[in-house]
Amino acid sequence: MVNFDKTQPAPNKVAQDLAREKAKISGTYRTRNVIEQIHFDFKGKCYVCECKGLTSINVEHFVPHKGDRDVEFDWDNLYLSCGHCNNTKLAKAVYDNILDCCNPAHRVDEWIKYEKDAFPKGKIKITALLSLTDNKEIVANTVELLQKIYEGTTIIKSLEAEAIREQLKEEMAKFRKNIRVYYDSSTPSIERSNTLLSIKRQLKKSSPFTAFKRWVVRENERLKQDFEQYFD
Ligand SMILES: [Zn+2]
Repeated sequence: MVNFDKTQPAPNKVAQDLAREKAKISGTYRTRNVIEQIHFDFKGKCYVCECKGLTSINVEHFVPHKGDRDVEFDWDNLYLSCGHCNNTKLAKAVYDNILDCCNPAHRVDEWIKYEKDAFPKGKIKITALLSLTDNKEIVANTVELLQKIYEGTTIIKSLEAEAIREQLKEEMAKFRKNIRVYYDSSTPSIERSNTLLSIKRQLKKSSPFTAFKRWVVRENERLKQDFEQYFD
């Protein structure tokens, strides 16, 4: 997870859509304008698993609306997720109480450590850094949800999780290769500057699995010194 800046207030066309649909008996919050804006604000990424290029796009209610139309049509409450994450989150009530990536006070990629071993079958490790925050319960809930997301809960979800881990593995391999090339003294300067551009791109919130890559940087003093400045 990384923090996102959702457009505030909702752009006029989005606010108009939500107000119009809310007034209908069977209105929908999933209008074209709403979906396009959410897709833009969340950089086309599922806010939970950090996959990009989603094949199943869900507009998720961060706080379940439970039939409350004010909550159902509230722009602030609409998030972009994938079907896998939305379904996993719905399965357990404590997942209603997780860190909010759109709340800048919730440091979603700092209070939780995201690790993927460099080995091909490397394990994913999600750790709550509880000493950094007073929001211990919601951090713990978030970590539990993320573990389920990357491991799967049912047989179908396990297969979905495997596909997510495969994408994560490829992205991390690309990132580690870029780091190697960047520091290799035999790399020609033009290639080195292109590699730096690629590393910068990979550390932006718009990139897939940003939190995992940022932790590779945070865990190494040299990388931290050179690349932490590119966290957006
Ligand atoms: Zn997801």
